[in-house]
Amino acid sequence: MAVVVSNFVNGEFVAAQDYIDSINPATGELWAKIPNSTEDEVNVAVAAAKNAFEGWSTTTIQDRSKILQKIADLLEKELKEFAEVESRDQGKPVSLATNIDIPRAVYNFRFFATSILHIKSDCTFLDGAGAVNYVQHVPVGVAGLISPWNLPMYLVTWKIAPCIAFGNTCVVKPSEMTSVTAFMLCKVFQDAGLPPGVVNMVCGTGPRTGEVIIRHPDVPLISFTGSTAVGRHIQEVTAPNTKKLSLELGGKNAAIIFEDCDLANCITTTLRSSFTNQGEVCLCTSRIFVQEGIYSEFIQRFVEASRQLKVGDPTTNVNLGALISAQHLNKVKSFVELARKEGATIQCGQGVDQLNLPNPENKNGYFFLPTVITNVSDSSELMQSEIFGPVVCIVPFTSEQEVIKRANNCRYGLCATVWTKDLGRAQRVARKMEVGTVWTNCWLVRDLNMPFGGMKDSGIGRESATDSLEFFTEKKTICMMI
Ligand code: NAD
Repeated sequence: MAVVVSNFVNGEFVAAQDYIDSINPATGELWAKIPNSTEDEVNVAVAAAKNAFEGWSTTTIQDRSKILQKIADLLEKELKEFAEVESRDQGKPVSLATNIDIPRAVYNFRFFATSILHIKSDCTFLDGAGAVNYVQHVPVGVAGLISPWNLPMYLVTWKIAPCIAFGNTCVVKPSEMTSVTAFMLCKVFQDAGLPPGVVNMVCGTGPRTGEVIIRHPDVPLISFTGSTAVGRHIQEVTAPNTKKLSLELGGKNAAIIFEDCDLANCITTTLRSSFTNQGEVCLCTSRIFVQEGIYSEFIQRFVEASRQLKVGDPTTNVNLGALISAQHLNKVKSFVELARKEGATIQCGQGVDQLNLPNPENKNGYFFLPTVITNVSDSSELMQSEIFGPVVCIVPFTSEQEVIKRANNCRYGLCATVWTKDLGRAQRVARKMEVGTVWTNCWLVRDLNMPFGGMKDSGIGRESATDSLEFFTEKKTICMMI
């Protein structure tokens, strides 16, 4: 029996007019029915959020903090169940959801529950005029929060937590492919005593449900994480309405590996940065630049390690589960086909190695082996387009100057990793990279106080304690003559 997901509006679960199928990527079977919310249904949700705004925006910071803490505590108690459902919905290994996705969702609430207790605002005294100026952070109103399928709970909570912590209300639309844990989270909101209408959730596809949210005149700010194409569309649609926008978009991230690096650590971490969550993380490494002196050794060791990774039933002890959908699997496959056509070398993975799926239930799942491609030109689509799957290209380079130029030769600018023991070089290269985050000798080590976001086609805006405060509030200067 499929799970039937409801919308959550004004503190209550409500049945929808229409439903769409949600597939378990590891089996290819229907496993949940998701509302495909209409314009009328979104309008009701926006009205509930608007109605709740006055009450919520005037609660004390201490009270909001307590509720967010409670949400975190309740979510943490159900970590195991959330992790299992996240895996069934998305295809990722249960172990990954247990160790990364759900704990981070808990932490998102805890982080903003506490960071709001420490907000300071600027204050000046104009000596000659005898005036005091101070800045008030004012919640903006009803936020539209739209999230993707790759890290469902991790990302939807990264939006909801700051949004409500800073006093806004919201209408949330999770991805139509992964809505089940977001639906479960609404029960946590109820149990934690979040007042009705503060968070409203409407499920559905982008063109039908998302489109109503982004165009709605009573939604003055949109926080969106997803593809660059949809992000650009949101910019176009909202331009006439001067909405506040935060856009976290695609990536095509480079790893730059110098001869003097700690190669063992570099290989282990680059394997993780390439293939975690089946390569379906916006921060995953996609282009690996290796200095020529260690190029052959790197390929040999990296390919050998890639072949050791276990792919299969996400409920078992595997490194990679299933890709999100049949359509996405075909997209990822088409890049390997392109590599073949362009005469590149497929060192390991799809079409070269055998996929071994012992559990017959998984025979129609969307599995893909970690695939390593070499002998590819920088201008190829393989090096320019976001693949968003377990496929990486490795290319050689000679000098520091050359690799900086080549790594920046890309329309995306989300993140990069730099591997060297020479700290001077690490600094020089990091400072020249056209990306929002550079990790040197590590990957995905995150301090939520630090700004997160992309340059170029990877987005607009940053997220962190202070950056999210800037986004989710308006700054008002109040001048008092004394
Ligand atoms: P997507 O753009 O197709 O969809 C993202 C969300 O937008 C979904 O909820 C979808 O229903 C909705 N949407 C689609 N069309 C819409 C419309 N016309 N109006 C309003 N909403 C609409 O992206 P996806 O395939 O779900 O996610 C993968 C993409 O997300 C990749 O490009 C990845 O790099 C990116 N991503 C970026 C970050 C980041 O922090 N920069 C994080 C995770 C994922």
